[in-house]
Amino acid sequence: MNLRSRNNSIGFVPTMGALHKGHVHLIERARSNNTVILSIFVNPKQFAPGEDYNRYPRYIEKDKVIATDSGVDILFLPSTDEIYPEGYKTFVNVEGITDLLCGRFRPGHFKGVATVVLKLFNIVMPHRAYFGEKDYQQMLVIKSMVRDLNLDIEIFGIPIVRDDDGLAMSSRNVYLGREERVSATSLNRALKVSREMVKSGEMNAQKIISEMERIIKKGDGIEIDYISLCNPETLEDIKIVDTRVLVAMAVRIGGKRLIDNCIVEVK
Ligand code: AMP
Repeated sequence: MNLRSRNNSIGFVPTMGALHKGHVHLIERARSNNTVILSIFVNPKQFAPGEDYNRYPRYIEKDKVIATDSGVDILFLPSTDEIYPEGYKTFVNVEGITDLLCGRFRPGHFKGVATVVLKLFNIVMPHRAYFGEKDYQQMLVIKSMVRDLNLDIEIFGIPIVRDDDGLAMSSRNVYLGREERVSATSLNRALKVSREMVKSGEMNAQKIISEMERIIKKGDGIEIDYISLCNPETLEDIKIVDTRVLVAMAVRIGGKRLIDNCIVEVK
């Protein structure tokens, strides 16, 4: 079947499965004006040794139901051997922005992400692709790759979908115990406080970060990888908040790593 030659617009949603409402939101956006292809592939190249590749939640039967119910037209479930046959040796490295934020703590992660996404783009050949702002840095890496390599694909960023308690939806949330889940709500609370501080005129990024740290560290067993107020395009740290800023963080709760972010506009 060649969808492209039939004048269909192909909208692509790449995921690692364990589908939740965040993924469904991407599918719904894609569905509004495309034939939708959803991929589920837990990409080994974006996990470092010792990370959770083997434990990553895999609920393929449940995912098939969610995909069908949310209007996915084609589900693409490649095997690891199909994507990385023996002797595989080509990688995509987006420089600069991949060294910052999560890149500082997960070296090689974004190289794995960019590589698999380019491969999936080449296989699926979409006109449009949809990425969640929850993984803001990832979305930026993909946008850079598309621009730098002249890919004819339009990238859409989709706002973060949150649970009722404010926690950003993530496949990894299933790892959290009851107490940890309560602690995890502090991430969104800290983001809200950062927004309020900026709104009330606070310009000192370090003061905002310190207040966010105080809120997050109230929970037991919480370690902060980073909290950053940075330029939303370059991801470079901002010291004085006098322009639109990305507030981004990665936190470990009982060893489980969660990320969250928001954009704060400065009036
Ligand atoms: P993943 O399966 O975690 O690799 O995510 C697949 C896509 O869904 C990525 O583009 C994510 O940014 C996006 N995504 C994951 N969680 C959310 C969420 N809570 N809200 C919006 N998009 C999300």
